[in-house]
Amino acid sequence: MPRLLALLLLSLGGLAAAEPRPLIIAHRGASGYLPEHTLAAKALAYGQGADFLEQDVVLSKDGVPVIFHDTHIDTTTDVAKKFPGRQRADGRFYALDFSVAELKQLNVTERFNPKTGKAAFPKRFPVGVGSFQVVTLEEEIQFIQALNRSTGRNVGLYPELKAPAWHRQEGRDLSATVLPLLRKYGYDAKDSACYLQCFEYAEIKRLRGELGWSGKLIMLLGGKGKGPGETDFTYLQTDAGLAELAQLVDGIGPPISSYVAGKTPAERQVTDLAARARKAGLKSHPYTLRADELPKCVTSVDELLSALFTEAKVDGLFTDFPDLCIKR
Ligand code: CA
Repeated sequence: MPRLLALLLLSLGGLAAAEPRPLIIAHRGASGYLPEHTLAAKALAYGQGADFLEQDVVLSKDGVPVIFHDTHIDTTTDVAKKFPGRQRADGRFYALDFSVAELKQLNVTERFNPKTGKAAFPKRFPVGVGSFQVVTLEEEIQFIQALNRSTGRNVGLYPELKAPAWHRQEGRDLSATVLPLLRKYGYDAKDSACYLQCFEYAEIKRLRGELGWSGKLIMLLGGKGKGPGETDFTYLQTDAGLAELAQLVDGIGPPISSYVAGKTPAERQVTDLAARARKAGLKSHPYTLRADELPKCVTSVDELLSALFTEAKVDGLFTDFPDLCIKR
């Protein structure tokens, strides 16, 4: 769609005002600008106007939910320098092998490749600069609630249960540890400012069944094929799969490429996934808009936002750059 026409349609959409703008979910905080999952990155995202702040959650050795994107922690901390020899046979350092007191001794840095030391995103905050602590889920909840108190806003939580099947293999129950914390802070009702998310369908079923989670829930989808916990992502995106999901969850979180695809801008296509999900009663919250890693089918952030918001009509968007998505 020509840019001017898209802009005109967007402003008309704005005038109508009946349609709320899509939720802006700060992916690991404003991680385009500051090291992911630091309170600094969360505060910046909050200040930029994000509606929800995302937490990826794993367990520490002493069973405390801590905020890390991966089960291993050597891509975002100086663990290899501070605790040499504490890696597993695969060479990786895992949050699950360190107590919270030990994790608190680490410095969190911009994401890097532990083999080469090179930054994952070369144009972002430099690796190794700054002094940032590992954050527990409870600390982050208290931080967000304190900001909500001082600003009068109600910015929400968007926690992801990371690798629950792997945790169980390790003898730990991630979900059963996280849910009481969310309940304690009032996030377990359908109208609470909280979306709980997970890539494992078996765990989603367990959350709604055995564990009795009654808050909002998002099924993350990883494109095509089989995912963790043998989740069949291809099936879950069919009409039958979406209808099945609608019995359990409030929405889906697939990659952006499931909504806007194509190898070049000329070949760009908006898929019918958001429309089919909506028909099934499911929200669409795709991941992840990165200004420094745009899909090949667009030439700018605004073009991608137009395709997602105006054409596909998604309901929310994960982004490393909340400010670029909110200013529209
Ligand atoms: Ca996540």
